[in-house]
Amino acid sequence: MSFLRQFDPEITDLINKEYKRQVEGLELIASENVVAREVMEAMGTILTNKYAEGYPGKRYYGGCEFHDQIENIARDRLCRLFGAEHANVQPHSGSQANEAVYLSFLKPGDKILSQSLNNGGHLSHGDPANISGKYYNITSYGVDLESELLDYAEIEATARKVKPDLIVCGASAYPREIDFKAFAEIAEDVGARSMADIAHISGLCCTGLHNSPVGVTTYVTSTTHKTLRGPRGGVIMCGKEYANSIDKAVFPGLQGGPLMHVIAAKAVCFREALSNEYKEYAEQVVKNCKVLAATLIDEGFRLVTGGTDNHLCLLDLSEQGISGHQAEIALGRAGITVNKNTIPRQHLSPFETSGLRLGTPTITTRGMREEECKQVGVWISRVLHNVENAAVLAETKDEVTTFCLRYPLYPEIRE
Ligand code: PLP
Repeated sequence: MSFLRQFDPEITDLINKEYKRQVEGLELIASENVVAREVMEAMGTILTNKYAEGYPGKRYYGGCEFHDQIENIARDRLCRLFGAEHANVQPHSGSQANEAVYLSFLKPGDKILSQSLNNGGHLSHGDPANISGKYYNITSYGVDLESELLDYAEIEATARKVKPDLIVCGASAYPREIDFKAFAEIAEDVGARSMADIAHISGLCCTGLHNSPVGVTTYVTSTTHKTLRGPRGGVIMCGKEYANSIDKAVFPGLQGGPLMHVIAAKAVCFREALSNEYKEYAEQVVKNCKVLAATLIDEGFRLVTGGTDNHLCLLDLSEQGISGHQAEIALGRAGITVNKNTIPRQHLSPFETSGLRLGTPTITTRGMREEECKQVGVWISRVLHNVENAAVLAETKDEVTTFCLRYPLYPEIRE
């Protein structure tokens, strides 16, 4: 980073501090990952210099011949990865991919049935604070309060009553498999379209570790930066009959020029996700999460739904008498980054929360396996039993740092 260092030492210094934080700490945020250096390299290229409004073969600017090829490769690879008929790789984020689906056929005031934020859904699925909640008429479904699982019979009953125009499924904090076929059938039954947001689990869907909604629900959206391990961004997949309306909703409906450097990096990510090594990685993510969950249960903690089928688990801290907020701070002091999360039936505010969300995509990319995940679970337990004990937190941080340095991140970046 010598040019940047010379021109802007202030920003360089902060990037280096963040690098050190990432290298020395355990990142257990379920929506994060560590991209391959090839993905990062594609993002930092001259492609960022170009305007390419429009789509391949139909741009509003000259000089897009190489951009057309790059975007076509990205679209083709994504279609191959998921067996999709049509792909749009331009959404700048997962939220924008979702908004584009809504814009493609809904009018303000139309009805959406979606999972509530408090029960694991996402802001962009109709939360009142989000544009989706302001423009559309939202009815939410949650999870069964006993089993903490999606209750498809209940969702069907609500759908029959509400008669939504769109049913949204997919979640930010749900540790079990989602039955996309059940959602598609409910939607069909009530004359609605369906959208599956697989932002969190797309890496599991494309490798067969989770059922895939592609070809099942009307639309599928995803981010590219979570389990898929690509650059920050979004994508949409759908059948050919919806291709035109989706493309128009993304551009000119919602966005201007596509981020071509990010689209190139998405293409690199899709190439990686098509490989056998990536499939092994995704398998290991799930195995690691199961070991982390089992260790925490052995240590006396309760997990929402009693365990996990995917890359994340949700810890219920009610019995320990600490909030998710307190736990997040204590773990942060011990070098373990997590996020507090609402859980079903919680009594604390959404800022305090009674839960923690833990995910294994990042530590798996760093090469940690079952044995290491057991150790991570033991550290989490130790910290959560000692949230006020500065000496224990400091001692754990030392151990975590020494441990993490055995799993280097981009060693060539070290300054
Ligand atoms: N959808 C789901 C299910 C998510 O969990 C997230 C982000 O966490 C998003 C959409 C939004 O993605 P972005 O942050 O790229 O807008």
